[in-house]
Amino acid sequence: ERNMRKKIIAGNWKMNKTPREAIELINEIKAEVAGASCDVVVCPTFVCLSASAEALKGTNIKLGAQNVHFEKSGAYTGEIAADMLEAIGVEYVIIGHSERRQYFGETDETVNKRTIAALAGSLIPIVCVGEVLGEREAGVTREVVCSQTKLAFRGISADDAKKVVIAYEPVWAIGTGKTATSAQADEVCKIIRDTIKELYGAETAEEIRIQYGGSMNAANAAELLAQPNIDGGLIGGASLKAADFGVIVRHA
Ligand code: PGA
Repeated sequence: ERNMRKKIIAGNWKMNKTPREAIELINEIKAEVAGASCDVVVCPTFVCLSASAEALKGTNIKLGAQNVHFEKSGAYTGEIAADMLEAIGVEYVIIGHSERRQYFGETDETVNKRTIAALAGSLIPIVCVGEVLGEREAGVTREVVCSQTKLAFRGISADDAKKVVIAYEPVWAIGTGKTATSAQADEVCKIIRDTIKELYGAETAEEIRIQYGGSMNAANAAELLAQPNIDGGLIGGASLKAADFGVIVRHA
């Protein structure tokens, strides 16, 4: 029995592409994903968002940002608020990516605050969770992702929780070419779904979408996306190649 969740493929472009290059890539991706049956999102850098919004008009591709600040406005030099993103056509925002946790001091607490701020600003959060290699080797993957998930959703209502997309990204699989096996990925996505069930009940758990991320590519996407608990992908490297991204989207 197939679930009713619509799959979602999002490209995390990370710190790549100038605005001109972003438009070029979008024009290539447009042709690849026209008529896709899943949700398709691209997440360029902040400086590319306005140009990208323009380039995406009239397409089936949605726009996402890679971060959002949790305050509404004020003396926060260098930061960008949810309302500002929403005002230029952004609909999704990646929150708590492992690179932000690793290099920019992101914590479970700030992930929670950003998720609340995104929802208040009508953005759909893509909340990233996942264990590092040492945690997997120590056998604490379950504890780590349960805890990250619970803390990310603290204070969020069931109605809002349903809108959130969770990305399970084992940190050891990101940018390394080392993909989790489809069984490993599905197992942890199930653990996350069970955590949502514990927090909000079966209906929310059945509706919420959980992506896999970490070296997903044109060759391994079909198998990963066929797993019962994997509702899409958060794609880094392969999202910068229109043809590969197109293949992944067609598998979803
Ligand atoms: P990757 O990145 O596909 O290059 O491994 C995924 C991500 O970091 O979201």
